[in-house]
Amino acid sequence: MQLLDGKFASEKIKTEIAAEAAAFLTQSGRKPHLVAILVGNDGGSETYVASKMKNCEKVGFKSSLFRYDNSVTEAELLAKIEEINKDTDVDGLIVQLPLPKHIDPEKVTETIDYRKDVDGFHPVNLGRMMRNLPCFIPATPYGILLMLQAYNIDTTGKHCVVVGRSNIVGSPMSILMARNANPGNCTVTLTHSKTHNLKEMVLQGDIVVAAIGRKNFVTADMVKPGAIIIDVGINRETSTETKSGYKLFGDVDFENVAPKASWITPVPGGVGLMTIVGLLKNTLASAKGEIYS
Ligand code: NDP
Repeated sequence: MQLLDGKFASEKIKTEIAAEAAAFLTQSGRKPHLVAILVGNDGGSETYVASKMKNCEKVGFKSSLFRYDNSVTEAELLAKIEEINKDTDVDGLIVQLPLPKHIDPEKVTETIDYRKDVDGFHPVNLGRMMRNLPCFIPATPYGILLMLQAYNIDTTGKHCVVVGRSNIVGSPMSILMARNANPGNCTVTLTHSKTHNLKEMVLQGDIVVAAIGRKNFVTADMVKPGAIIIDVGINRETSTETKSGYKLFGDVDFENVAPKASWITPVPGGVGLMTIVGLLKNTLASAKGEIYS
C-alpha cells in the first residue's frame, strides 16, 4: 500500500500557486482575491473557512471574510452576494455550506456570478464541465484530480466506482472520471443509498471514491485487492484525546482497507487538503482571466 499524501501533494502545488500569484502581482499590481461568506457558527464550517483564509495568505492571495448570524435573512445575504459580484477587486466568491434552513442554497448558488464561482457549484460551470469546456471545476473533485496527477496515476480504462451522488462531490466526480482526459477515461459506476448490492458494486472498483458522510462505511470486504481508494468523508466526533476537542474519521475503514489497497488517501491529511488547493487554483485562474475573460 502507498499513501496518497495530501500534505505532500498540496504543499507542492501551493508552492507553484505562490510563484504564479507573485508573478500576477508584479504584472497587475494586485493580488488574487477570494471572498468567503460564513453564516452561523457550525464548528466544521468555522474550521474549513479559517483554513481557506489561512491558505490564501500563505500563497500570497488577498482574502476577506463576511460573517453573519443565523438570523440573517435570505434577502440580506443575496444583496451582499450581488454587491460582491460587482466588486472588480474580487476574483472568487464562496458561501460556506450548510446554510440555515430558511435560506435556499439553490438561490444562493445561482446568485453568485458564475465568473466568480470558484467553488464550481453554479449551473453554468456544471454545464460547461459536462461539455468539457473551460469552467471552474467543483473544488473537491478538482482536488482529487490534482492528487491523482501529483502521483502520476494513470486512470485510463479503469473502473471507477463512486459512492455518493451529491451535487458537490459524487455527481461531478463521476462526470470527471468518465471524461476523455487523464485523470479520467474511466468506466464509471455512480452509486447511492438506493443502489442494490452496493458491496458487489464497490468490489468491482479499480478506483473507489467514497463520498457518503458515514464513518468507516467502506470496509475491507467491499474492496478489490489492489484498488485505489479515495476517501472524501469528513466525520467529526468529539474526543478527549485531541487538543481541538474532536477527531476526524473518513468514510473508509482505513486500518483494514489500507493493507488491501494499492493507493489510499488518509483522513485527515488527504482529500480535505486538496480541496483547498482546488479552490486556490480556481481563484488564481479567475484572477488571470483564464476561464472567463
Ligand atoms: P451528502 O450528504 O450531500 O451526500 C451523501 C451521499 O451519500 C448521497 O448521495 C447519499 O445517497 C449517499 N449515501 C448515504 N448513505 C448511503 C448508503 N447507506 N449507501 C450508499 N450511499 C449512501 O454529502 P456530501 O457529498 O456533501 O459529503 C460526503 C462526505 O464528504 C461528508 O462526510 C462530507 O463531510 C465530506 N466532504 C468532504 C470534503 C473534503 O474536502 N474532504 C468536501 C465536501 C464534503 P442519496 O443521494 O440516495 O441520499
